[in-house]
Order: sequence, then structure tokens, then C-alpha cells
Amino acid sequence: MSEALRDVARDKDARAVAEREYPMVATQYYLSLARPEATDPILHQCLPDEAEVDQTGQDDPLAEERDSPVPGLVHRYPDRALLVVTNRCAVRCRHCLRKRIWGDRAVDMTDDRFEAAARYLEETPSIREVLVSGGDPFLLSNETLAHRLERLRRIPNLEILRVGTRVPAVLPSRITAEFAALVGAYRPLWVDTQFNHPRELTDAAQTACEQLTRAGVPMVNQSVLLRGVNDDVEVLERLFRGLLRFGVKPYYLFHGDPVLGTLHVRTGVERGQHIMERLRARLSGLALPTFVIDLPDGGGKIAVTPETPVRRRDQNTVELLSVDGRSIRYPDPVAKP
Ligand SMILES: *Cc1c(COP(=O)(O)O)cnc(C)c1O
Ligand code: SF4
Repeated sequence: MSEALRDVARDKDARAVAEREYPMVATQYYLSLARPEATDPILHQCLPDEAEVDQTGQDDPLAEERDSPVPGLVHRYPDRALLVVTNRCAVRCRHCLRKRIWGDRAVDMTDDRFEAAARYLEETPSIREVLVSGGDPFLLSNETLAHRLERLRRIPNLEILRVGTRVPAVLPSRITAEFAALVGAYRPLWVDTQFNHPRELTDAAQTACEQLTRAGVPMVNQSVLLRGVNDDVEVLERLFRGLLRFGVKPYYLFHGDPVLGTLHVRTGVERGQHIMERLRARLSGLALPTFVIDLPDGGGKIAVTPETPVRRRDQNTVELLSVDGRSIRYPDPVAKP
């Protein structure tokens, strides 16, 4: 939390503080999916909440900035890297992992910075896949997006391009046949999207996904397990079955990272395991995502199954094993009822 926020928090209404620090951005389309209820899963994902002024968590718990060899590029795993091409999003999610880059205005990566990142990718042949992310790359102009993808496609070691975008869920009208053809021109390219609730599975969203897959772009989905939105077996079952019908493979279900300003939507590791155990009994392997925790401090992603040992140290911390067998403390407050 910034000093400024701390000062305001002392004497102003918490909701107003949350709105100031993390301004709301949403599309008409996304808001049209909401119902006027306090517990609405759409509103809960995009309306400022006074709980966001809570000071638990970190700006950058995954230490992305530390693993950044050139600005905008995160290189943590030998064979793949993550490229942040813009901070713009059609809807700003209250649970966003990169709230730290929201700022108060839209910032796209400059040509110079992009070129520096492209050179790094070119000079690091172990990297076979780049995940173009943000923000939301599908909010770039067609021209800029095509330019970025074309430059990446020319890098011989980059076998696979992957674009992370929430546009199919929050602004599906952006994905016309023409746009899908533009993206499909840079195959092999995968789209990694984010649907979190079955209410988001509209006809318009289905059309958007089908435009992409018809253009030869396979799609996977990464959901975030969100308290009060989808931390429920029936809700997730409907979500994953629906995605599969759209031709989108449920890939990951993330446990929310300990990001500053997101404590109110975090669920708890043990509860996640319990939900996964019940889902496994109900869903085909195609419909079932891997439950994943991204360990703090750049520890990397680990798959958590119902059998994974999770040792609770206290009300606020559990211990997990990293991929290389180290015991890692993970902030996981027992959810308030
Ligand atoms: C998540 C992530 C990736 C992609 O990982 P997959 O497990 O292949 O989806 C790549 N780089 C960074 C830094 C990441 O956090
Ligand atoms: S779409 Fe992704 S980057 Fe944008 S606000 Fe949501 S979680 Fe954050």
C-alpha cells in the first residue's frame, strides 16, 4: 500500500480509498451480466471493495520484477518467458495479480522496449514459448498487435506464441472473424483466457471463442479460485463443463496469490483441495484443470492435488514443498466465516 493510501485510509471511508487506489474499469457488456445483489459474482469481480485497503500481502509476491532481465519481460522457467505488452484491461479484476502496474493511465510497451525484449528472446535459444500478457494484449490496436506478433514469430527459437487475454470473457465483440484471422496468422499460437464464473459463458462469449478456434487458435482457460465468486463445487462444475462445450480446455485453477488488496477474494489452500477432490469425482479429465499455486518469491508454480501434503503452521501460514523439494511458507489466512 502506498504512503498516500495509508494517509487517506486514516480519515476517509474505506470504499472511497479502494476506489482511488484501484479505480474501477469495466465494459458495458460485462456489467450487463450482473444482477443487483450484494453477492453478485460479476460485481464482486469488478466493483471496488472496502476490504481492498487491508494491508495484508505484497505488491509483487511472485517477485516478477526480480526475474526480469529486461523491462517488461519475466524469465523464470528455462523454456518460456512472459512479456507484459500493456497495462490496459477491458475490466480491471479486483483479484488481479498485477495490480501494481494499473497506475492511473494506460501504458503500452514502447517500440524500443519491445525491441529490447525481442532481442533478449532471440539471444536466449532455450526459450521456446513466449506468453504475451499484460494487462490485456487484445486491447492493443490491430496494427500494434500484428506488429508485435509478427516480430515474435520471426524469432526462430520461439516455437509457440501464447496470448493471455480476458477479452473473450469481458469484451467478446472485439473478436470478429477478421480479428481472429489476424491472430491466427501467427500460428502456432495459443490463447490463454480467463473465465471465472458460468454467468460469463454467454452466447457472445461462445461466438468469440469459436471464432478463434475456427481460425486455428486453440484455447485454454485459467480461472482464479475466488471467495464468494466460484469457491463452490457446483459453480466450478458448470464453469468447466461450459468451457469444454465452447472448445476451451480448462487448464489451470489458480489459488489467489497473496497480492496486496486482494485478501477478501482469497479462498484457502485446504478448501481448494477439498473442492478439487469433489470435482475430480464429477468431471472428465478434459474438463478438469490443474489446481496451481504460484509460490511466493519466485518459487514457481506447483500443482496441488487433494493428496499434496499441506502443513498448517498457524492461522496465517501453511507449508508447501517447492518443485525442488524445499519447504516454503505460504501466507494462507484461515478464511473468516
Ligand atoms: C505462469 C508463468 C509462465 C507460464 O507457465 P505455464 O505453466 O507454462 O502456464 C511463464 N512465465 C512465468 C514467469 C509465469 O509466471
Ligand atoms: S484481465 Fe488479467 S491483468 Fe487485467 S485486471 Fe484482470 S487479472 Fe489483471
